[in-house]
Amino acid sequence: MSTQRTTILIVGAGPTGLAAAISLVKQGFRHILIVEETASKGAASRAMTIHAATLEALDSINCAEALIELGIKGSGMQLSDRTAPFMDAEFASLAPYTKFPFVLLISQSTTEMVLEAQLHEMDVEVLRPEKVVGFQRNDDGEIDVSFESGKVITAQYVLGADGAKSVIRQLAGVGFADPDGAPVDDRLAQMILADVSFSSSNSNLPTDKVCGTASGGKFFLTIPLPKSPESDPIYRIGFNVPSSAGPPPSNPPTSYLQQYLDEQGPFNLSSDASVNPNPIHISKTIWSTRFRTHAAIADQFLVRMGSPVEAGGRGRGLVLLVGDAAHIHSPAGGLGMNLGIRDAISLGPVLAAHAASNNESLPKNDKLLEEYVTTRRDRALSTIRLTKRIMSIANVLGTAKLLDINYWFFRLVGRIPFVKRQIAWNLSGLGNR
Ligand SMILES: Cc1cc2nc3c(=O)[nH]c(=O)nc-3n(C[C@H](O)[C@H](O)[C@H](O)COP(=O)(O)OP(=O)(O)OC[C@H]3O[C@@H](n4cnc5c(N)ncnc54)[C@H](O)[C@@H]3O)c2cc1C
Repeated sequence: MSTQRTTILIVGAGPTGLAAAISLVKQGFRHILIVEETASKGAASRAMTIHAATLEALDSINCAEALIELGIKGSGMQLSDRTAPFMDAEFASLAPYTKFPFVLLISQSTTEMVLEAQLHEMDVEVLRPEKVVGFQRNDDGEIDVSFESGKVITAQYVLGADGAKSVIRQLAGVGFADPDGAPVDDRLAQMILADVSFSSSNSNLPTDKVCGTASGGKFFLTIPLPKSPESDPIYRIGFNVPSSAGPPPSNPPTSYLQQYLDEQGPFNLSSDASVNPNPIHISKTIWSTRFRTHAAIADQFLVRMGSPVEAGGRGRGLVLLVGDAAHIHSPAGGLGMNLGIRDAISLGPVLAAHAASNNESLPKNDKLLEEYVTTRRDRALSTIRLTKRIMSIANVLGTAKLLDINYWFFRLVGRIPFVKRQIAWNLSGLGNR
């Protein structure tokens, strides 16, 4: 059995863990190890959007430029019924407040590739495959983390950046539940994502906007993806499958995707000539997946394994939760990875200072760490609320009939420039850095 020692152990090399490692090294902190259970990065990609506040944070660790070069500068997010748009977020309106007045459309796998390359430049390598299976406090108040391989790493701080099913959160005994105690929404319980190209490049889909179609409690998303010059345009599509329709296949084939596109997508993308005079088909499915979604937040983001500073301890043995390990919610608005990356980058200076504390500076740095977790938990709660609000508005819009007051209310309100700017502001995270 091999034993290693480090000050900070980061568990998980997803976007959150990688960003945390870069942020710590940027602070000049070198006593870190980052471990990842998978042998290599998968091609599957979940998050597609990086908002302005996250780009600002990524800029502070020198990663924004490389990402912008590889992505598409999205101008807006649009909500439509099956025939026409009725609500828009216009990101250009953010120009007075940020140097990134757009939403960057880029696949999560590319984002992770850029972050890992930056970490490599800083001479830190992800240790993989290394799966954490347990931890316990040792006699010195530090944490012995054990791995499937038999290895043990002793750390003063363990950063759980190991995703929604976080082993670190479970080992620390931290609860994880919907903050409102709400049951899983049946309509959203099952969702599908796929990257596809269409039979005609003239699909009328905007090439720089996220488009959501809402109708009768059903949703359909299209997002343009960066492509190589020689390939056809590629789009990420996404839609909900109600529980009543039974479980979807784990890698839905083209025929399944086409059926849902025709049933709940925009008419101008339909393969049905009775609603679309220029029928279009999905010509190629590059990747597809199903997933379940609900909202949850960890009861605590910080767990002390040693005695707190006020009790005269050195504050040793701390477990921190960041990213999906600490909070999850529906993909509405494309906010989850954004929140995790900002958790991670803002933690860098606080944790580096805490870990480097001497007896005199420890109480002050301990207070900063407490403030950090309180702020990040508040940010997570307000993001969960925002995603729930987006889903309920989309649902009202999708189900309201021509004679309903809601139908006309949202259509009129959605045209007001102030409202369009406000939606962009809320999604950008700039008011909630
Ligand atoms: C379908 C879907 C669409 C989404 N779309 C968007 C979007 O458009 N925009 C957005 O901002 N967010 C989106 N999200 C959310 C986003 O994908 C997550 O918020 C993001 O991946 C969280 O990053 P993370 O690093 O915290 O966790 P993860 O990405 O889950 O990374 C955790 C890492 O920890 C590793 N790990 C786990 N357990 C262990 C262990 N025991 N030992 C060692 N390593 C371990 C895993 O292998 C993994 O690499 C979407 C999510 C889903 C499911």
